[in-house]
Amino acid sequence: MSKGRPEILFPLFADLTSLDGVGPKTAKLLEKLDVRLPRDLLFGLPTGVVDRRVHDSFADAADGEVATAIVTVLAHRAPASRGRPWHVKVDDGADGADLVYFRANQGWVDKLLPIGSRRLVSGKVERWNGRVQIAHPDHVIAVDEQGYELLDDGTDAPDPVTDPVSAPDFAPDAAPDLGADPAPALPDFEPIYHLTEGVTQRLMHRVAQSALARAPDLAEWIEPSLLASKKWPAWRGALTAAHAPDGPDALRAGSPARERLAYDELLSHQLALALGRAANRRTKGRPSDGDGRLRAKVRAALPWPLTGAQGRAVTDIAADMASGDRMNRLLQGDVGSGKTVVALIAMLTAVEAGGQAVMMAPTEILARQHIESLAPLLAAVGIEPLLLTGRDKGKLRAAKLMQVLDGAAIVIGTHALFQKDVAFRDLRLAIIDEQHRFGVRQRLDLSSKGVRPDVLVMTATPIPRSLALANYGDMDVSVLDEKPPGRKPVTTALVPSDRIEEVIARLAHALDLGRRAYWVCPLVEESATMDLAAAEDRVRELRARLGPAMAQKVALIHGRMVPAEKDAAMAAFVSGEALLLVATTVIEVGVNVPEATIMVIEGADSFGLAQLHQLRGRVGRGADASTCLLMYDAPLTASGKARLAIMRETEDGFRIAEEDLRLRGAGDLLGVQQSGLPKFRVADIEGQADLMRTAQEEARLVIATDPRLEGRRSDALRALLYLHERDAAIRLLSVG
Ligand code: ADP
Ligand code: MG
Repeated sequence: MSKGRPEILFPLFADLTSLDGVGPKTAKLLEKLDVRLPRDLLFGLPTGVVDRRVHDSFADAADGEVATAIVTVLAHRAPASRGRPWHVKVDDGADGADLVYFRANQGWVDKLLPIGSRRLVSGKVERWNGRVQIAHPDHVIAVDEQGYELLDDGTDAPDPVTDPVSAPDFAPDAAPDLGADPAPALPDFEPIYHLTEGVTQRLMHRVAQSALARAPDLAEWIEPSLLASKKWPAWRGALTAAHAPDGPDALRAGSPARERLAYDELLSHQLALALGRAANRRTKGRPSDGDGRLRAKVRAALPWPLTGAQGRAVTDIAADMASGDRMNRLLQGDVGSGKTVVALIAMLTAVEAGGQAVMMAPTEILARQHIESLAPLLAAVGIEPLLLTGRDKGKLRAAKLMQVLDGAAIVIGTHALFQKDVAFRDLRLAIIDEQHRFGVRQRLDLSSKGVRPDVLVMTATPIPRSLALANYGDMDVSVLDEKPPGRKPVTTALVPSDRIEEVIARLAHALDLGRRAYWVCPLVEESATMDLAAAEDRVRELRARLGPAMAQKVALIHGRMVPAEKDAAMAAFVSGEALLLVATTVIEVGVNVPEATIMVIEGADSFGLAQLHQLRGRVGRGADASTCLLMYDAPLTASGKARLAIMRETEDGFRIAEEDLRLRGAGDLLGVQQSGLPKFRVADIEGQADLMRTAQEEARLVIATDPRLEGRRSDALRALLYLHERDAAIRLLSVG
């Protein structure tokens, strides 16, 4: 079935050195720009334009501005002394100008700018004593009366400094072969490319053009009606236009040529996801359609009704599980939106159908907390959930593994669940909590433990819609966009770190009143050891300040504690024996102590917004009003200020995520490696979410009717996948 890369694309995937004028040295330099193939040059679009429109003279150009005019050469002035430049006096139709060259010589000047010749000159205008000077013009081109390039003796300005190959010591550039038709000497707007050391605009432009010359006419892969409604050009035309912007406007992401190329990129990504999704569905799941008996009892035992959003998610999940297709669903819900109970109901569905369910959490603390909150509810149906973590060793672990193999209905645990010796009797549902903490690999590992179990992935990291589409495009998504009623807003304040004394004094007062508080120590990037040292110092200091009685009510929790110590610290805080819990970020996810009403975050500027949001989500969980103090080291950078300001403005995790994305960019937010998100060269997933949505809809439509890409338009779509190297998708197609 595999047809391999279409032959028509070969020239775009050849060695860079196969391009005119690219030797091994240039190829090496281009690699720094992420250019390894001619194909990469096509998608490395200009980042700017220089206006080269021809003026009547240089007189109206401001200092420092690039200007272009046609001049007549009047005289050559050799340098007065060594190290001084050549001056070429020209008539520009107004007050005249000097073209200035260092390291030139008579022969070279005579050739480029013979006296009496007519030249189009373009470069940065400066003024000395009121007279226009252009040092090393970007372009000097021989032109005729109409400003058209003279092909016989025209040479584009070789610069003796930046272009030593054509400098006086070397053979001059050959005249460019532009064919017989007269062409304007310069396009009105010259594209500007992103550069690296050793690569000039001129080189970039030349190699981009030679790559473009290789771009074949490809069969259209975009739906004709979409293409027409967007007024997009065909692929090759879009590339040509995008590399020849006809003004600053053509650089906008929404210009037809760029938008089309962005869409191609997004479509290829969404096609890959849709193919993955289809392949996943082809591995038939088993319908888990219980009688609802357990679910009804547990729901009756809940102290509150489900929110509307929870109800909808429960319905989505039940429908997925009942169908013969394998479930692959993401449950996305902000901190505190009540994902756990949705997971519980899903697990009971698997149990009703006679199977087992497993839920994996990223930390021991969280796994324990799940057991504690779920056990009372499960007691209503006589199920005792089993906890399996890395802490279980030896005989205890062996006994638990026996229970799992024996069919324990509900198993909750940590990474320990991945291990090879963990085997289930009949695993029907695998749930992964706080999925952003796990890699895709682990998701697969866990789901391979059953016979094609349904998979539910939960995340509280509120990712913006556009990223969700990019990242989880292969999954179905349920969103908990509604919080359980009665939540009190958290008051958030920003405090510079030099006011720590005040913060401690107010904290002491609140603790005296019996309130409970978290104190999060700054993130020390270099090492967990330093994190710990900072946290220990802080605990000592706080104990000293709070006085001997209160000092006993300060607990410390950090990632390097042995598990039993962590439990003890958490337990003390839950019971109120400890009123202040000093922590490194181990408390970030999931911890639920409704009595805690104060959150102090030191070095708030060192955390990501998503993390701050998670941390703040630890308070505001009970009936009392809560406060969050974000301490920062002044002075803040502009973006630091903007980020903390968002935290003060809103508690809406989705808004925070959108802003975070806007301020930091997608790569940073999810870490490209970890998220599996491809690098988009043209598309801007922050700004083009709508385009991503269109691409997703289109991709799903295509794959719904043609799941193996064999039908109409399939050759074109396959070429698109090859063009963008969607390797995983291509492999799926060749497996068939
Ligand atoms: P998260 O989505 O962050 O995992 P949890 O599942 O831990 O949220 O729920 C947060 C809190 O909200 C818990 O204390 C839980 O008991 C409570 N809760 C969940 N659903 C509801 C509801 N429908 N009404 C009231 N409280 C709820
Ligand atoms: Mg949770």
